[in-house]
Amino acid sequence: MTDEREHRTWTVRDVVRWMTQRFTEAKLDSPRLDAELVCAHVLGCDRVGIYLAMDRPLSSRERDTLRALVRRRLAREPVAYLIRRREFFGLSFAVTPDVLIPRPDTETLVEAALDLGPAEGGWSLLDLGTGSGAIAVALAHARPAWRVTATDVSAKALAVARENAARNQTPMELLEGGLFVPVAGRRFDLVASNPPYVPRGSAVQPELGHEPPGALFADDDGLALLFAILDEADGHLEDGGHLLLEFGQGQDGPLKERARAAGWSEIRVLADLAGIPRVLHARR
Ligand code: SAM
Ligand code: GLN
Repeated sequence: MTDEREHRTWTVRDVVRWMTQRFTEAKLDSPRLDAELVCAHVLGCDRVGIYLAMDRPLSSRERDTLRALVRRRLAREPVAYLIRRREFFGLSFAVTPDVLIPRPDTETLVEAALDLGPAEGGWSLLDLGTGSGAIAVALAHARPAWRVTATDVSAKALAVARENAARNQTPMELLEGGLFVPVAGRRFDLVASNPPYVPRGSAVQPELGHEPPGALFADDDGLALLFAILDEADGHLEDGGHLLLEFGQGQDGPLKERARAAGWSEIRVLADLAGIPRVLHARR
């Protein structure tokens, strides 16, 4: 889509091919998928929709929009921020640069919670650091009888979580504040969290530079918030209540040790779909 070719007609097929080529040259991880998602967003359809529209010419306005998005993607801005949405656990989530983009890894924690709690009856869940609302909304959607409370230290993140709770028709309590401060004196059947756990100062892929640092990085080799939750969660669980914590690669050893020292029982570690230790489950 260089200037000298400005006047020829560009079909959906042409632009998907052109974008895929640019993204491949830039060594992005999934060039074709990124091209299709961005193109579908500009055309206002889903990915199947672009296959039905391959011969459709783009308007010059659509081409301009597309070019601007391609530039941003080449600057390593994640596709989810370009198209302002992301699928998680089969649901559609609004995302903005104020929230972490929900990761497939986190579905491991959601599955574990579904296994632990009652399928029909009531249960109470606290999701600490809810971000986009991914965990809280996915669980509230799958288990409408559960009472769900979600917190975040970021008011901007909570606004996105509120939008996602409304969009997915999952009523819940949303509270602003650090860790357990907004739920002082309250107890739950399950405390779940995917807190920031990337070691501060570690080298990360360029896409992460576009996500909120407060959602990613933690002190003490990334363990600071995980440890704080392990130390404090006991006071916010019903007898026999469960704790589920997502963590990063290589953090399972220190976490299990800390959990034992803090007096937790039935400590076990669950692996994600790639077989990497990803979630700590402990009981009060
Ligand atoms: N739960 C979401 C998910 O799994 O996609 C977002 C997880 S993101 C890794 C961590 C979230 O914790 C961010 O939204 C961040 O604002 C929030 N957070 C960071 N420090 C916090 C604290 N001290 N108390 C509560 N939330 C915190
Ligand atoms: N799983 C994210 C990543 O490594 C980190 C999320 C987090 O810190 N909780 O990209």
